Amino acid sequence: MMAFTAVILVTIGTVFFFINQATQEEIRQLEERDNQMLTNRMQIELSRYYLQRGNWRDIQPFIEQWGNLYEKRIILTDSSGTVVADSEGDLLGELHTPDSEGSLVPFGFRGSSMGTLYVTPVSSSEVGLTSLQVTFKSIGLFFIWGGLFAGAIALLMTFFMSRRILAPVKSLASAAVLLGKGDFRQRVQIRDKGELGQLADTFNSMVSDLERAEQLRRNMVADIAHELRTPLSNIRGYLEAVRDGIKEPDTDTISSLEEEASLLSRLVDDLQELSLAEAGELTLVRSEEDVAGLVRQAVTAVEGQSSARGLSLTVELPDSLLPVNVDSHRIGQVLRNLLENAIAHTDAGGTITVAARQLEGYVEVSVTDTGEGIPSEDLPNIFERFYRVDKARSRKLGGTGLGLAIVKHIAQAHGGRATVQSTPGKGSTFTIHVEACQM
Ligand code: ADP
Repeated sequence: MMAFTAVILVTIGTVFFFINQATQEEIRQLEERDNQMLTNRMQIELSRYYLQRGNWRDIQPFIEQWGNLYEKRIILTDSSGTVVADSEGDLLGELHTPDSEGSLVPFGFRGSSMGTLYVTPVSSSEVGLTSLQVTFKSIGLFFIWGGLFAGAIALLMTFFMSRRILAPVKSLASAAVLLGKGDFRQRVQIRDKGELGQLADTFNSMVSDLERAEQLRRNMVADIAHELRTPLSNIRGYLEAVRDGIKEPDTDTISSLEEEASLLSRLVDDLQELSLAEAGELTLVRSEEDVAGLVRQAVTAVEGQSSARGLSLTVELPDSLLPVNVDSHRIGQVLRNLLENAIAHTDAGGTITVAARQLEGYVEVSVTDTGEGIPSEDLPNIFERFYRVDKARSRKLGGTGLGLAIVKHIAQAHGGRATVQSTPGKGSTFTIHVEACQM
């Protein structure tokens, strides 16, 4: 408001100053022209008068009339300088010595002097001001009042406008303060459709994101605590049983303890990997790779497990696959993960098929099993961390519940995606797409 007041005052002041300057000059010139015309006219009239009469007798009433009419002090002297007429009648018969400003017009006819005319402006109603100056002064006053009025209206408008602008800003600020204190329910309601409305929308969506992130963080901590609890309580159980003499500290017990400890360390490794992936900080060492080679490596790594469970493992690879620009270690990890899952969830006698095909811009690799399949209600969540169809069974199989979440993130980090199709009782197909190198 102070800034607005300053702007208004400076604007009005400047305009007034320049108008004042211009008008003063204009008035001065106007008065000069006016005076000049008047004295010329009087001179003509007076010459005519004198020429008709040969003297100035009875001129006084005319001069008085003119004086009143034109609001001037008019003094007429004869050729010797004696006043013969004075519009105010004071100096009649005296010798006139002009002292003030005004026009002094000696005039005569054919060389002989008739006399001198003195015309001085007379102040009208106000002291020292001519009528034009009075007019100008009242215009100036109008200007000042008009300026003050406009200024008052402008300030009033500024007041209401700044309230309109400040109210939403204040509500945003107080919401931000509460948000800073951890209250994620904060939302601001601003009906404005302009920038403030947009700011409020952005603020609200930012708060929603923060709320979601906070919820995810809480869930993650709860999930981790929950996942750590089971192996830890198993370890404690074994140790307590040994201490109390219920169990012998034999090879069996020690290998059970070892199993639980290795589950814990796998869990910690997977969690670290997943948190990096979720933060988008997974470092990929990309190079041009042949998909067929990666698939064969992964298959070789799990062949032992697969035949131990009585499964047949087949590979279907076309010849015309474009190379892919991937981190071979990570993609190998993804393939092994999918293969190990397929082996774990397929009963003896089943088949696991790894296939690859070329799509436009992508190479698709799929792992299909003839296993138990996944119920359709679980399918949308299967790539979420710690989501398992059968928790107890997954743990028994040594799963951390993080494998598919890691698969999804690695595929996404490669500009691709991971998907699943499954029919319970018949089997599942997990598919990943990775960008092919442009040829
Ligand atoms: P886990 O460590 O339990 O294997 P994953 O994230 O790898 O964790 O898998 C999550 C869940 O998805 C598994 O617990 C299992 O229920 C289900 N699942 C994964 N792969 C298959 C598959 N090939 N067939 C049936 N179910 C599967």
